[in-house]
Amino acid sequence: MSRFFDWLAKLIYPPLPNCVACGEPFDSLYPLAFCQRCLARIPFITAPVCSQCDRPLRGGEGDLCRECQNETHYYEQAMAVAVYTGYLRELLHTAKYNFRPDLARGLGTILAVWAENEIRLEGIELIIPVPLHPQRLAVRGYNQAELMARPLATALRRPLRPELLERVKPTRSQSKLSRRERKENMRGAFLVVNCPAVAGKEILLVDDIRTTGYTLSAAAQALLLAGARRVKVLTIAVGVTPEQWMQ
Ligand SMILES: [Zn+2]
Ligand SMILES: [Zn+2]
Repeated sequence: MSRFFDWLAKLIYPPLPNCVACGEPFDSLYPLAFCQRCLARIPFITAPVCSQCDRPLRGGEGDLCRECQNETHYYEQAMAVAVYTGYLRELLHTAKYNFRPDLARGLGTILAVWAENEIRLEGIELIIPVPLHPQRLAVRGYNQAELMARPLATALRRPLRPELLERVKPTRSQSKLSRRERKENMRGAFLVVNCPAVAGKEILLVDDIRTTGYTLSAAAQALLLAGARRVKVLTIAVGVTPEQWMQ
């Protein structure tokens, strides 16, 4: 009998999901994988932002940030949800290096909720995550960018096509390189596998982090050379200088 009541209770009061970051049960109006307390620790970007790349502006520099005034990229618009610092930096690091595909997918739910009603995504026809080189994929076990892009593709009802783009050069980690070395490091790193599938299309490239933008720009260049009409990029986090982000 008591088992029946257990079953009935679960039916009427389904157990709350657990936050993918802290493990606490939580209730949310949105299909998010994080509790309110964890969400409140994420440094979400608020206006004013750079019109090209969503970096927060401090005011007085016009509508382009310093990066965008000095550098051009093959993608035409870069979007980001939060700043690469603090708690979000920890979460992204864990999702990537501590074998936490669930956390990567969970971070994708933030992209999915953010993307609803985002006018800049209206013309997107295909979503492609930035691929890992097969050697790195074999070590990590999953591509975090692809897992993050999945809930986004579902929310936007657009096809996710990770197989269209390959990373053909085993690039060194960008973090210890100078700006010029980073750019050089990414040259010829990507190859479009099926050119007719991207020809004439407006494409959204998705990755976890954007710092210099060189990786995303090299991927965008490969897509444009294959005939893509337009490439936009979206990352959860964007790197900023301490002057841009002092709170
Ligand atoms: Zn939490
Ligand atoms: Zn900018």
